[in-house]
Amino acid sequence: MFNQTCYELGSNRSCIRELFEYGRSRAAIVGPENVFDYSLGNPSIPAPPQVEQAIRDILTDMDPMAVHGYTSAVGDLAARQAIAEDLNERYAAGVRAEDLFIGCGAAPELVAAFRALAVPGAEILAVAPYFPEYKPFVECAGAALKVVPPDVPGFQIRLEAVEAMLTPNTVAVILNSPNNPAGTVYTRQTLEKLAALLQRKSEEFDHPIFIVADEPYRELVYGGVEVPFIPNIYPNTVVCYSYSKSLSLPGERIGYVYVPQQAAEHDRLYAAIAGAARAAGHVCAPSLWQKVIARCAKLRPDLESYDRNRRALYDGLTALGYEVAKPDGAFYLFVKAPGGDANAFSEKAKQNDLLVVPGDGFGCPGYFRVCYCVSHDMIIRSLPVFGELI
Ligand code: PLP
Repeated sequence: MFNQTCYELGSNRSCIRELFEYGRSRAAIVGPENVFDYSLGNPSIPAPPQVEQAIRDILTDMDPMAVHGYTSAVGDLAARQAIAEDLNERYAAGVRAEDLFIGCGAAPELVAAFRALAVPGAEILAVAPYFPEYKPFVECAGAALKVVPPDVPGFQIRLEAVEAMLTPNTVAVILNSPNNPAGTVYTRQTLEKLAALLQRKSEEFDHPIFIVADEPYRELVYGGVEVPFIPNIYPNTVVCYSYSKSLSLPGERIGYVYVPQQAAEHDRLYAAIAGAARAAGHVCAPSLWQKVIARCAKLRPDLESYDRNRRALYDGLTALGYEVAKPDGAFYLFVKAPGGDANAFSEKAKQNDLLVVPGDGFGCPGYFRVCYCVSHDMIIRSLPVFGELI
Protein backbone atom coordinates (compact mmCIF):
# COMPACT_ATOMS: atom_id res chain seq x y z
CA MET A 1 0.00 0.00 0.00
CA PHE A 2 1.34 3.39 -0.97
CA ASN A 3 0.24 6.94 -0.69
CA GLN A 4 -2.05 7.29 -3.70
CA THR A 5 -1.30 10.97 -4.35
CA CYS A 6 2.43 10.37 -4.29
CA TYR A 7 2.06 7.29 -6.48
CA GLU A 8 0.10 9.25 -9.07
CA LEU A 9 2.56 12.14 -9.03
CA GLY A 10 5.45 9.73 -9.45
CA SER A 11 3.95 7.56 -12.15
CA ASN A 12 2.47 10.24 -14.43
CA ARG A 13 5.12 12.15 -16.29
CA SER A 14 4.35 15.80 -17.00
CA CYS A 15 3.37 16.70 -20.55
CA ILE A 16 6.63 18.67 -20.83
CA ARG A 17 8.75 15.67 -19.80
CA GLU A 18 6.75 13.44 -22.18
CA LEU A 19 7.51 15.75 -25.07
CA PHE A 20 11.17 16.02 -24.10
CA GLU A 21 11.55 12.22 -23.92
CA TYR A 22 9.72 11.89 -27.22
CA GLY A 23 12.15 14.38 -28.76
CA ARG A 24 15.09 12.33 -27.58
CA SER A 25 13.67 9.15 -29.04
CA ARG A 26 12.93 10.87 -32.36
CA ALA A 27 16.44 12.35 -32.43
CA ALA A 28 17.87 8.85 -32.20
CA ILE A 29 15.86 7.87 -35.28
CA VAL A 30 15.87 10.94 -37.55
CA GLY A 31 18.98 12.71 -36.21
CA PRO A 32 19.08 15.51 -33.63
CA GLU A 33 19.34 18.15 -36.38
CA ASN A 34 15.86 17.17 -37.61
CA VAL A 35 14.05 17.55 -34.28
CA PHE A 36 13.00 21.06 -33.21
CA ASP A 37 12.64 20.63 -29.49
CA TYR A 38 11.16 23.68 -27.75
CA SER A 39 9.80 21.71 -24.81
CA LEU A 40 12.09 22.09 -21.79
CA GLY A 41 13.36 25.20 -19.99
CA ASN A 42 16.91 23.99 -19.53
CA PRO A 43 19.34 26.95 -19.77
CA SER A 44 21.40 26.88 -22.96
CA ILE A 45 24.11 29.33 -21.93
CA PRO A 46 26.94 28.13 -19.70
CA ALA A 47 27.36 29.45 -16.17
CA PRO A 48 29.57 32.57 -16.12
CA PRO A 49 33.31 31.62 -16.05
CA GLN A 50 33.64 33.21 -12.59
CA VAL A 51 31.55 30.35 -11.20
CA GLU A 52 34.08 27.75 -12.29
CA GLN A 53 36.90 29.94 -11.00
CA ALA A 54 35.13 30.28 -7.65
CA ILE A 55 34.85 26.49 -7.37
CA ARG A 56 38.56 26.10 -8.12
CA ASP A 57 39.48 28.80 -5.59
CA ILE A 58 37.25 27.29 -2.91
CA LEU A 59 38.75 23.83 -3.40
CA THR A 60 42.25 25.30 -3.26
CA ASP A 61 41.78 27.78 -0.44
CA MET A 62 39.40 26.13 1.97
CA ASP A 63 39.58 23.23 4.34
CA PRO A 64 37.77 20.30 2.62
CA MET A 65 35.92 19.55 5.86
CA ALA A 66 34.42 23.04 5.71
CA VAL A 67 33.67 22.81 1.99
CA HIS A 68 31.87 19.50 2.16
CA GLY A 69 30.54 19.49 5.71
CA TYR A 70 27.03 20.31 6.92
CA THR A 71 26.32 24.01 7.03
CA SER A 72 23.95 25.79 9.37
CA ALA A 73 20.42 24.53 8.65
CA VAL A 74 19.34 27.94 7.32
CA GLY A 75 22.52 28.40 5.31
CA ASP A 76 26.06 29.76 5.72
CA LEU A 77 26.21 33.26 7.11
CA ALA A 78 28.70 34.30 4.39
CA ALA A 79 26.28 33.32 1.63
CA ARG A 80 23.36 35.07 3.33
CA GLN A 81 25.44 38.22 3.86
CA ALA A 82 26.54 38.26 0.22
CA ILE A 83 22.96 37.90 -1.00
CA ALA A 84 21.73 40.60 1.40
CA GLU A 85 24.46 42.96 0.21
CA ASP A 86 23.57 42.36 -3.42
CA LEU A 87 19.84 42.90 -2.87
CA ASN A 88 20.46 46.05 -0.87
CA GLU A 89 22.74 47.51 -3.53
CA ARG A 90 20.16 46.88 -6.23
CA TYR A 91 16.89 47.56 -4.44
CA ALA A 92 17.76 49.44 -1.22
CA ALA A 93 15.58 46.82 0.43
CA GLY A 94 17.00 46.68 3.97
CA VAL A 95 17.66 42.93 3.68
CA ARG A 96 19.48 41.32 6.62
CA ALA A 97 21.23 37.96 6.65
CA GLU A 98 18.65 36.73 9.17
CA ASP A 99 15.86 37.36 6.65
CA LEU A 100 17.35 34.82 4.26
CA PHE A 101 17.07 31.05 4.20
CA ILE A 102 19.32 29.28 1.71
CA GLY A 103 17.26 26.71 -0.15
CA CYS A 104 17.74 23.96 -2.70
CA GLY A 105 16.23 25.90 -5.62
CA ALA A 106 12.84 27.50 -6.14
CA ALA A 107 10.84 24.26 -6.09
CA PRO A 108 11.59 23.18 -2.50
CA GLU A 109 11.51 26.80 -1.37
CA LEU A 110 7.98 27.16 -2.74
CA VAL A 111 6.98 23.93 -1.05
CA ALA A 112 8.33 25.28 2.25
CA ALA A 113 6.51 28.60 1.81
CA PHE A 114 3.21 26.90 1.00
CA ARG A 115 3.52 24.50 3.91
CA ALA A 116 4.35 27.37 6.25
CA LEU A 117 1.25 29.28 5.15
CA ALA A 118 -1.18 26.37 4.87
CA VAL A 119 -3.40 26.67 7.92
CA PRO A 120 -6.42 24.31 7.84
CA GLY A 121 -8.83 25.30 5.04
CA ALA A 122 -6.24 27.59 3.39
CA GLU A 123 -6.67 28.70 -0.20
CA ILE A 124 -3.79 29.87 -2.36
CA LEU A 125 -4.34 31.74 -5.62
CA ALA A 126 -2.15 31.31 -8.68
CA VAL A 127 -2.41 33.71 -11.59
CA ALA A 128 -2.71 31.93 -14.94
CA PRO A 129 -0.70 31.17 -16.89
CA TYR A 130 1.15 29.51 -14.03
CA PHE A 131 3.90 26.92 -13.47
CA PRO A 132 2.04 23.57 -13.33
CA GLU A 133 4.04 22.29 -10.36
CA TYR A 134 2.23 24.77 -8.10
CA LYS A 135 -0.70 22.39 -8.04
CA PRO A 136 1.06 19.42 -6.41
CA PHE A 137 3.14 21.75 -4.24
CA VAL A 138 0.07 23.54 -2.86
CA GLU A 139 -2.19 20.52 -2.60
CA CYS A 140 0.41 18.37 -0.87
CA ALA A 141 0.87 21.26 1.57
CA GLY A 142 -2.79 20.73 2.47
CA ALA A 143 -4.13 23.89 0.83
CA ALA A 144 -6.44 24.39 -2.16
CA LEU A 145 -5.06 25.97 -5.35
CA LYS A 146 -7.45 28.45 -7.01
CA VAL A 147 -6.52 29.66 -10.46
CA VAL A 148 -7.11 33.28 -11.47
CA PRO A 149 -8.03 33.25 -15.17
CA PRO A 150 -5.44 34.71 -17.57
CA ASP A 151 -5.44 38.31 -18.70
CA VAL A 152 -5.39 37.64 -22.45
CA PRO A 153 -3.57 38.88 -24.52
CA GLY A 154 -1.30 41.07 -22.34
CA PHE A 155 -0.82 38.54 -19.49
CA GLN A 156 -0.83 41.04 -16.67
CA ILE A 157 -3.23 40.30 -13.75
CA ARG A 158 -7.02 40.45 -13.87
CA LEU A 159 -7.49 42.32 -10.64
CA GLU A 160 -11.28 42.12 -10.67
CA ALA A 161 -10.95 38.33 -10.94
CA VAL A 162 -8.47 38.25 -8.05
CA GLU A 163 -10.84 40.36 -5.96
CA ALA A 164 -13.77 38.04 -6.70
CA MET A 165 -11.71 35.00 -5.71
CA LEU A 166 -10.29 36.31 -2.43
CA THR A 167 -12.05 34.78 0.57
CA PRO A 168 -11.37 34.80 4.31
CA ASN A 169 -9.52 31.51 3.67
CA THR A 170 -7.05 33.03 1.20
CA VAL A 171 -3.58 33.03 2.69
CA ALA A 172 -1.47 33.81 -0.38
CA VAL A 173 -1.29 34.75 -4.03
CA ILE A 174 1.53 33.23 -6.09
CA LEU A 175 3.17 35.52 -8.63
CA ASN A 176 5.79 34.50 -11.15
CA SER A 177 7.38 37.37 -13.00
CA PRO A 178 9.13 37.22 -15.46
CA ASN A 179 6.59 34.58 -16.23
CA ASN A 180 6.88 30.97 -17.25
CA PRO A 181 5.23 30.38 -19.76
CA ALA A 182 4.18 33.83 -21.02
CA GLY A 183 7.58 35.59 -20.83
CA THR A 184 5.75 38.68 -19.60
CA VAL A 185 6.83 40.89 -16.69
CA TYR A 186 4.27 42.36 -14.30
CA THR A 187 4.51 46.15 -14.40
CA ARG A 188 4.96 48.32 -11.36
CA GLN A 189 1.46 49.66 -11.95
CA THR A 190 -0.05 46.16 -11.95
CA LEU A 191 1.82 45.25 -8.78
CA GLU A 192 0.87 48.45 -6.98
CA LYS A 193 -2.81 47.90 -7.76
CA LEU A 194 -2.60 44.30 -6.60
CA ALA A 195 -0.81 45.39 -3.42
CA ALA A 196 -3.56 47.92 -2.65
CA LEU A 197 -6.20 45.24 -3.20
CA LEU A 198 -4.44 42.69 -0.98
CA GLN A 199 -3.87 45.29 1.71
CA ARG A 200 -7.56 46.22 1.71
CA LYS A 201 -8.66 42.57 1.79
CA SER A 202 -6.13 41.70 4.51
CA GLU A 203 -7.69 44.40 6.68
CA GLU A 204 -11.20 43.20 5.84
CA PHE A 205 -10.35 39.57 6.70
CA ASP A 206 -8.17 40.56 9.64
CA HIS A 207 -5.18 38.49 8.59
CA PRO A 208 -2.38 39.08 6.10
CA ILE A 209 -2.68 37.75 2.58
CA PHE A 210 0.88 37.09 1.44
CA ILE A 211 2.38 37.26 -2.00
CA VAL A 212 4.64 34.31 -2.74
CA ALA A 213 6.96 35.67 -5.42
CA ASP A 214 8.45 32.82 -7.44
CA GLU A 215 11.48 34.47 -9.03
CA PRO A 216 13.84 32.13 -10.84
CA TYR A 217 13.73 34.43 -13.88
CA ARG A 218 14.25 37.77 -12.12
CA GLU A 219 17.52 38.50 -13.92
CA LEU A 220 16.33 37.28 -17.32
CA VAL A 221 14.84 40.45 -18.75
CA TYR A 222 15.42 42.26 -22.03
CA GLY A 223 15.37 45.76 -23.43
CA GLY A 224 15.79 47.44 -20.05
CA VAL A 225 12.30 46.46 -18.83
CA GLU A 226 11.94 46.96 -15.06
CA VAL A 227 11.31 43.91 -12.84
CA PRO A 228 10.05 45.61 -9.67
CA PHE A 229 11.27 44.13 -6.39
CA ILE A 230 7.92 43.08 -4.95
CA PRO A 231 8.77 43.34 -1.20
CA ASN A 232 9.41 47.07 -1.76
CA ILE A 233 5.83 47.39 -3.00
CA TYR A 234 4.13 44.89 -0.66
CA PRO A 235 6.08 43.87 2.48
CA ASN A 236 3.97 40.76 3.12
CA THR A 237 5.88 38.99 0.39
CA VAL A 238 7.90 35.80 0.56
CA VAL A 239 10.47 35.68 -2.26
CA CYS A 240 11.56 32.27 -3.54
CA TYR A 241 14.65 32.80 -5.65
CA SER A 242 16.83 30.39 -7.55
CA TYR A 243 20.16 30.43 -9.36
CA SER A 244 18.91 27.70 -11.71
CA LYS A 245 18.28 30.08 -14.58
CA SER A 246 20.14 33.26 -13.64
CA LEU A 247 23.50 31.49 -13.32
CA SER A 248 22.54 28.44 -15.43
CA LEU A 249 22.89 26.06 -12.48
CA PRO A 250 19.62 24.09 -12.47
CA GLY A 251 21.26 20.82 -11.53
CA GLU A 252 23.08 22.23 -8.53
CA ARG A 253 19.94 23.08 -6.49
CA ILE A 254 20.68 26.41 -4.90
CA GLY A 255 18.62 29.52 -4.18
CA TYR A 256 17.11 31.37 -1.25
CA VAL A 257 13.90 32.41 0.48
CA TYR A 258 13.66 36.03 1.58
CA VAL A 259 11.25 37.08 4.32
CA PRO A 260 11.24 40.90 4.58
CA GLN A 261 11.84 42.35 8.01
CA GLN A 262 8.57 44.33 7.61
CA ALA A 263 6.48 41.22 6.88
CA ALA A 264 3.75 40.48 9.39
CA GLU A 265 5.03 38.27 12.22
CA HIS A 266 8.42 38.10 10.52
CA ASP A 267 10.15 35.86 13.05
CA ARG A 268 7.31 33.35 13.24
CA LEU A 269 6.94 33.26 9.46
CA TYR A 270 10.68 32.72 8.97
CA ALA A 271 10.64 29.97 11.60
CA ALA A 272 7.63 28.33 9.93
CA ILE A 273 9.43 28.31 6.57
CA ALA A 274 12.58 26.90 8.14
CA GLY A 275 10.41 24.32 9.94
CA ALA A 276 8.60 23.36 6.74
CA ALA A 277 11.94 22.89 4.98
CA ARG A 278 13.08 20.80 7.92
CA ALA A 279 9.98 18.62 7.75
CA ALA A 280 10.62 18.10 4.04
CA GLY A 281 14.29 17.23 4.70
CA HIS A 282 15.49 20.25 2.76
CA VAL A 283 17.80 22.06 5.15
CA CYS A 284 21.51 22.65 4.76
CA ALA A 285 21.55 23.35 1.00
CA PRO A 286 24.58 22.04 -0.96
CA SER A 287 27.58 23.36 0.93
CA LEU A 288 29.98 23.88 -1.98
CA TRP A 289 27.33 25.87 -3.81
CA GLN A 290 26.68 28.04 -0.80
CA LYS A 291 30.38 28.91 -0.84
CA VAL A 292 30.13 29.69 -4.57
CA ILE A 293 27.15 31.98 -4.02
CA ALA A 294 29.02 33.77 -1.23
CA ARG A 295 31.55 34.72 -3.93
CA CYS A 296 29.23 35.07 -6.95
CA ALA A 297 26.02 36.65 -5.62
CA LYS A 298 26.64 39.79 -7.68
CA LEU A 299 27.11 37.99 -10.99
CA ARG A 300 24.52 38.49 -13.71
CA PRO A 301 24.01 36.32 -16.77
CA ASP A 302 25.12 37.39 -20.23
CA LEU A 303 21.75 37.46 -21.98
CA GLU A 304 23.01 38.17 -25.47
CA SER A 305 22.24 34.75 -26.92
CA TYR A 306 18.78 34.48 -25.30
CA ASP A 307 17.95 37.96 -26.54
CA ARG A 308 19.07 37.07 -30.05
CA ASN A 309 16.87 33.96 -29.96
CA ARG A 310 13.96 35.91 -28.55
CA ARG A 311 14.10 38.48 -31.32
CA ALA A 312 14.56 35.90 -34.09
CA LEU A 313 11.60 33.81 -32.91
CA TYR A 314 9.31 36.70 -32.10
CA ASP A 315 10.01 38.43 -35.41
CA GLY A 316 9.91 35.15 -37.33
CA LEU A 317 6.62 33.95 -35.84
CA THR A 318 4.83 37.28 -36.05
CA ALA A 319 5.96 37.66 -39.69
CA LEU A 320 4.37 34.27 -40.35
CA GLY A 321 1.10 35.50 -38.86
CA TYR A 322 1.29 34.02 -35.34
CA GLU A 323 0.03 36.09 -32.41
CA VAL A 324 2.70 36.16 -29.71
CA ALA A 325 2.57 37.68 -26.21
CA LYS A 326 5.26 40.40 -25.97
CA PRO A 327 8.23 38.53 -24.48
CA ASP A 328 10.03 40.83 -22.06
CA GLY A 329 11.63 38.21 -19.86
CA ALA A 330 12.47 34.58 -19.02
CA PHE A 331 13.17 32.42 -22.10
CA TYR A 332 9.67 31.55 -23.26
CA LEU A 333 7.29 32.71 -25.93
CA PHE A 334 3.58 32.15 -25.50
CA VAL A 335 1.84 31.86 -28.82
CA LYS A 336 -1.83 31.75 -29.76
CA ALA A 337 -2.56 28.42 -31.40
CA PRO A 338 -3.80 28.81 -34.95
CA GLY A 339 -7.32 27.39 -34.98
CA GLY A 340 -7.62 27.88 -31.23
CA ASP A 341 -6.86 24.30 -30.11
CA ALA A 342 -3.34 24.20 -28.67
CA ASN A 343 -3.42 20.44 -28.06
CA ALA A 344 -4.33 19.78 -31.69
CA PHE A 345 -1.64 22.22 -32.83
CA SER A 346 0.99 20.67 -30.58
CA GLU A 347 0.07 17.21 -31.87
CA LYS A 348 0.29 18.33 -35.49
CA ALA A 349 3.62 20.02 -34.75
CA LYS A 350 4.86 16.83 -33.11
CA GLN A 351 4.17 14.92 -36.31
CA ASN A 352 6.57 17.37 -37.95
CA ASP A 353 9.16 16.86 -35.20
CA LEU A 354 8.49 20.31 -33.78
CA LEU A 355 7.85 20.13 -30.04
CA VAL A 356 5.87 22.86 -28.32
CA VAL A 357 3.91 22.64 -25.06
CA PRO A 358 0.13 23.25 -25.05
CA GLY A 359 -0.97 25.93 -22.58
CA ASP A 360 -3.70 23.86 -20.88
CA GLY A 361 -1.39 22.64 -18.12
CA PHE A 362 -0.47 26.29 -17.44
CA GLY A 363 -4.14 27.19 -17.00
CA CYS A 364 -4.31 28.87 -20.40
CA PRO A 365 -5.85 26.77 -23.17
CA GLY A 366 -5.54 28.05 -26.73
CA TYR A 367 -1.86 29.02 -26.36
CA PHE A 368 1.34 27.04 -26.66
CA ARG A 369 4.75 27.61 -25.09
CA VAL A 370 8.03 27.77 -26.96
CA CYS A 371 11.27 27.65 -24.92
CA TYR A 372 13.96 29.57 -26.74
CA CYS A 373 16.88 28.40 -24.61
CA VAL A 374 18.00 26.44 -27.68
CA SER A 375 20.57 26.93 -30.43
CA HIS A 376 20.01 29.91 -32.70
CA ASP A 377 20.54 27.69 -35.67
CA MET A 378 17.64 25.45 -34.62
CA ILE A 379 15.36 28.48 -34.48
CA ILE A 380 16.25 29.53 -38.01
CA ARG A 381 15.80 26.00 -39.35
CA SER A 382 12.48 25.55 -37.56
CA LEU A 383 10.78 28.67 -38.95
CA PRO A 384 9.75 27.01 -42.25
CA VAL A 385 8.06 24.24 -40.21
CA PHE A 386 6.13 26.85 -38.20
CA GLY A 387 5.27 28.37 -41.57
CA GLU A 388 3.83 25.10 -42.88
CA LEU A 389 1.85 24.58 -39.68
CA ILE A 390 0.06 27.91 -39.87
N1 PLP B 1 9.19 28.21 -10.80
C1 PLP B 1 9.15 28.36 -12.12
C2 PLP B 1 8.21 29.34 -12.70
C3 PLP B 1 9.97 27.59 -12.95
O1 PLP B 1 9.91 27.75 -14.26
C4 PLP B 1 10.85 26.66 -12.35
C5 PLP B 1 11.70 25.79 -13.18
O2 PLP B 1 11.63 25.72 -14.36
C6 PLP B 1 10.86 26.54 -10.96
C7 PLP B 1 10.00 27.32 -10.21
C8 PLP B 1 11.76 25.57 -10.26
O3 PLP B 1 13.05 26.10 -10.25
P1 PLP B 1 14.26 25.36 -9.51
O4 PLP B 1 15.05 24.67 -10.56
O5 PLP B 1 15.04 26.46 -8.90
O6 PLP B 1 13.69 24.45 -8.50
